[in-house]
Amino acid sequence: LTILGLECSADDTCAAVVTSNRRILSNIVIKQFREHEVYGGIQAYVAMKAHQRNMPEAIRRALSDANISIEEVDGIAFTRGPGMGGCLGAGLMAAKGIAAALGKPLVGVHHMQAHALTAFLTTSVEELPTFPFLTLLISGGHTLLLLATSTTSFQTLATSNDSSIGHAFDRVSRMLGLEWSDIGPGAALEVFCATGPDDEELPNDLPQFPLPMPGRLDFSYSGVLTAVNRYVTDQGGAEKMEPLRKLAVARAFQRAAAAHLEEKIALALRWCRREGFVIHHLVMSGGVASNMYLRSRIRQLLDTSKSRVPIALLLPPPHLCTDNAVMIAWASMERFRAGDHDDYDVIHMAKWNIEDLAR
Ligand code: ATP
Ligand code: FE
Repeated sequence: LTILGLECSADDTCAAVVTSNRRILSNIVIKQFREHEVYGGIQAYVAMKAHQRNMPEAIRRALSDANISIEEVDGIAFTRGPGMGGCLGAGLMAAKGIAAALGKPLVGVHHMQAHALTAFLTTSVEELPTFPFLTLLISGGHTLLLLATSTTSFQTLATSNDSSIGHAFDRVSRMLGLEWSDIGPGAALEVFCATGPDDEELPNDLPQFPLPMPGRLDFSYSGVLTAVNRYVTDQGGAEKMEPLRKLAVARAFQRAAAAHLEEKIALALRWCRREGFVIHHLVMSGGVASNMYLRSRIRQLLDTSKSRVPIALLLPPPHLCTDNAVMIAWASMERFRAGDHDDYDVIHMAKWNIEDLAR
């Protein structure tokens, strides 16, 4: 099967062509960082209008890079939810229009399921994850630690009731006044942390940024956000801070963010042992999972964990951790293969709990 996938649930306009035998024929991502920069964050209406403008171009380039015509495509997949309503609507209408005009089948995909299943496409056949596995999905809208028992059965072990980790990276990056127009604020924070002198040469009088809710299977990033905000304000704002002090704050935040993830993964593994789930794999994805520092911290945690069986960390390449349409096309494949698809009157779901996929 050859599937055209469309994704525009947040701020990237994406189209891709993927085959059921695991070949990525094209992958187009049109970013909007510059459009949102003046507002200091993603504006839903601005994003929707950019998708309306850019989606035809993304589709045209995806087909041309794949060197196929739309008639040769076997089905159209699109992100049905969760995400921003107006944005989802733009992708839904593009997908429906093509599918209905050509009489092709249509499948609406859950965005977070697609992030989780990317590892089945990017891992070699010998190393594919086996059920049950743990998956850590960290992105702009979600901080999720899930137990996956099949491609459609996910149990939430931990989630965030306040800020997502991606939002926290974005906020801290802005508080420190980092330049991010080309790569986005979260990635800019990682780049900033990786430059400059060793920690020993940085100011060492910083407060401890708190790690909230130790011992509980829940994420929370609002406490550390408040602490960073208070500290930067006390210093008279980012413009008044020495570059090395800003670097110390950025690294302290990134360390705290990593420690919070580590603690929850360790708790989840303990929970799995108690409940009799033998875990061999941790799949990490979502935009924040492209962060190399976080990857290395979690790899170390698994390498030194006392679990009886070794746990392999599966990581899609960074460009397939952030939003893309390859993952949407790929996640639709099981339904297309089974001859199952949505009707042309399908509508988007801005809110959609991943646990409901199994129902
Ligand atoms: P969701 O998947 O929850 O709907 P989304 O689709 O908007 O959210 P993704 O593209 O999956 O988000 O992830 C975007 C988030 O990842 C943003 O908050 C961005 O700043 C963050 N991010 C991207 N790269 C990095 C990085 N290298 N380090 C930290 N954060 C990053
Ligand atoms: Fe995403």
